[in-house]
Amino acid sequence: MYALVINCGSSSLKFALISSKERQTIISGGAEQLDSPEASLTIKHDGKKTDALKDSSHLGAFKEIFAYLDQKGFAKNIIAVGHRVVHGGEYFQESVEITPEVIEIIKKCAPLAPIHNPANLIGILAAQEVLPALPHVAVFDTAFHQTMPEEAYLYGLPLEIYEKYNIRRYGFHGSSHRYITERTARILDIPLDKLNIISCHLGNGASVAAVKHGKSVDTSMGLTPLEGLMMGTRSGSLDPGLIPYLVECLDYDIYEIDKLLNFKSGLLGISGVSNDCRLLESKAKEGHVRSRLALDMFGYRVSKTIASYLPALQRLDAIVFTGGIGENSVYIRELIMSQLAFLGYTFSNPSNSFCTGGKEGVIATSSGFGKALVVCTDEEGMIVQDTLEILAKKEKSELRQRYAISLPPYY
Ligand code: AMP
Repeated sequence: MYALVINCGSSSLKFALISSKERQTIISGGAEQLDSPEASLTIKHDGKKTDALKDSSHLGAFKEIFAYLDQKGFAKNIIAVGHRVVHGGEYFQESVEITPEVIEIIKKCAPLAPIHNPANLIGILAAQEVLPALPHVAVFDTAFHQTMPEEAYLYGLPLEIYEKYNIRRYGFHGSSHRYITERTARILDIPLDKLNIISCHLGNGASVAAVKHGKSVDTSMGLTPLEGLMMGTRSGSLDPGLIPYLVECLDYDIYEIDKLLNFKSGLLGISGVSNDCRLLESKAKEGHVRSRLALDMFGYRVSKTIASYLPALQRLDAIVFTGGIGENSVYIRELIMSQLAFLGYTFSNPSNSFCTGGKEGVIATSSGFGKALVVCTDEEGMIVQDTLEILAKKEKSELRQRYAISLPPYY
């Protein structure tokens, strides 16, 4: 039996077919440049194959993916579909089966994630059209952070603005931070409800979450993923007063400013070369000053954010690094941990260098502030876990209902 995971963007549709028992990815891939003549579909299964898409719509891509799964004999054994949905607003604290009401609420949250939620919905509707008899589950990026207290999630704006427009901090990368929390609890053998960690998801998008007693109490992303750390192409937090000034200096409209902050800033904007950490590391080694500066700014902002979460946690079991950079960049982790040396971490470079390419481990230990670990995230695994749990609950309740109906009246 298999679960199908769908992650649909505005011009892309990624998928993974995962076995329900072993939780192994059997087939994965995705369509890119959808709704354009260059639309293509890549399937990773016994090698990698990319073909042009005849129908470049999301539905066309999904039909093609399904046809492949059918042709290879997997389609009939798919038992549920899990969808990544970026924004669940304040409506969803956990994953849910997708009903018409859930679709309406995802639509309602679209103004909070105007690029992502409509795209996620397109993916849901396409998958439902092709697989109408299966349960479809929505797993929200924001859900894990719904436990944040008011002092962490409110902006210092007039309260009526929050009350009227739901403008507050939501946080993202929830599936990753939740996976890291659960896995770290197992690795350190600490009960989840006693575990205090700082989870650092450092990839092209990057965020840090403060997790107290297994629950998110603060995180660096806000109303949108632009807040917080400096990222691959996002600026991260900056002085809001800068925006009217930029409008004046650059003669940009607000959409151009949005583009500048989301797509032309961060590692890319500072280095002037790339948003790819690997490339910047090799350029920095060759003496490229702006690449070194970009990496150093990235690292400094992470260490500053980690330290800022100590008041929320009071006691720390672990700092955990994950995401493409967190799992692989020896340089960035060393930079961050050296800036946190005042917390008493004994940093071990052999073990730090060992943790790349999927190898997990402890890279530093402190007598007062726990360990620093590298843990590989698995957002798709989390989506499958939630999808199968919801499916099992649904089957149980249907069985119970059927059983109750067939019970003789004297029971
Ligand atoms: P993600 O968005 O989680 O896939 O992470 C992408 C980022 O991880 C990119 O900036 C990559 O350059 C970076 N990355 C992947 N592998 C390495 C590596 N071996 N060393 C440094 N950065 C890496």
